[in-house]
Amino acid sequence: MKVQEELLLQPPRGMRDILPTEQIYWQQARRVSEKAAQDFGYRRIDIPLLEFNNLFERSIGEGTDIIDKEMFSFSTKGGERVALRPEFTAGIARAYIQHGLQVAPKPVKLYYTGPCYRYDRPQEGRFREFFQFGCEAFGESDPILDAQMIQMGWRIIYQLGLRNVRVRINSIGCPACRKSYRNLLVSYFESKKQKLCIDCKRRLETNPLRILDCKEDKCVQVKMNAPQSIDHLCEDCRIHFKELLEYLEELEIPFEIDAALVRGLDYYTKTVFEFFAGETGEDVKKSALGGGGRYDGLVKMLGGENTPAVGFSLGLDRLVALMKKTGAKVYKEPKAKVFLAQLGTFAKRKSLRMFESLERAGIMVSESFGRGSLKSQLKVADRLGVEITLILGQKEALDGTVILKDMSSGNQEIIDSAKLVDEVKKRLKK
Ligand code: AMP
Repeated sequence: MKVQEELLLQPPRGMRDILPTEQIYWQQARRVSEKAAQDFGYRRIDIPLLEFNNLFERSIGEGTDIIDKEMFSFSTKGGERVALRPEFTAGIARAYIQHGLQVAPKPVKLYYTGPCYRYDRPQEGRFREFFQFGCEAFGESDPILDAQMIQMGWRIIYQLGLRNVRVRINSIGCPACRKSYRNLLVSYFESKKQKLCIDCKRRLETNPLRILDCKEDKCVQVKMNAPQSIDHLCEDCRIHFKELLEYLEELEIPFEIDAALVRGLDYYTKTVFEFFAGETGEDVKKSALGGGGRYDGLVKMLGGENTPAVGFSLGLDRLVALMKKTGAKVYKEPKAKVFLAQLGTFAKRKSLRMFESLERAGIMVSESFGRGSLKSQLKVADRLGVEITLILGQKEALDGTVILKDMSSGNQEIIDSAKLVDEVKKRLKK
């Protein structure tokens, strides 16, 4: 006999439910970010949760934590190697090439929002299923666009009521200047190899820039004196970075140059940045609210035309957590001011249509149609604190009327149901 496995009443580790009581924060985060994107001329794109595994391997790159350790990858029944998206940029670049989006006027501005998956060790602010909002702009290499990305991310975080927003910024150069910088970095870390953690010893072979990103104490010590990318930029990258900083100064966005910021992924070029909020001195690495950068080589790398691009993403889970922690003001869910009660078989049959006519007129209505007794329905109306209760009894349903009860005075009157919408609106206005 087959033994049934125990049913665990919980989702897999690092995943969680977002209950109705929390939704006000999520709605606010989505509303503010999507509004900003639309205001800046971005159009929404949705892409599948699953992509072929090699899209991520090729774009994010081996030697990164995401590819080496954190991918939710598996084979389908048809034998295809696929993965849950660990981020959106690769999939969006894939869609951009596939659908020939480059024919639109440049820059092509796209925004997205949805869940991402990384098989990371769950801890505060770090989940295996988490939500991102982000923007990507294709076809423009001017640093003014990098500045505009930072402006948008900064504005969204600020508009969510979070203060002390800071931007950390760096330039990791282009493939030309990065090559010689990478060599310098390798020879520096080679000389200190014994002091590096096991992962960084491996990174020295696969992705030495990532050592700068390591949070292990001993690696933090070693990297303090490491050569910095901004000291080794080519002329083009140097000017790009300088102009970006000038734009940020013009925008009065507070930023700090962080030589250790590399953002690990292979596809970044030139600008990289991250957003933080809260008091300085907090464990800033853990509290990044978002980040982004320029990825001029990605589209070509995936088989498209040479297309400069820049983007950023915000971690909605972290924004929401901080909004809750700091008591940020949120948009209040609209509450029904009208309750519709029914009594008797005929009235019950008519009640759905009456509900619909009110709802179509923009009046939010509550009900408890499944309950038979009028008393229990009125109890619900009381608990909801509505202003008006409508009672549709057998007699009223036959007569084409309805009883309107003002909940604060307790007064009742009989209304012609053809005039119901106007009568309710009139009383709600008062
Ligand atoms: P990344 O591109 O990896 O820097 O991710 C962008 C943003 O997404 C980060 O700054 C975080 O706010 C958020 N994020 C990344 N990974 C996670 C995770 N495992 N759990 C929650 N939020 C995350």
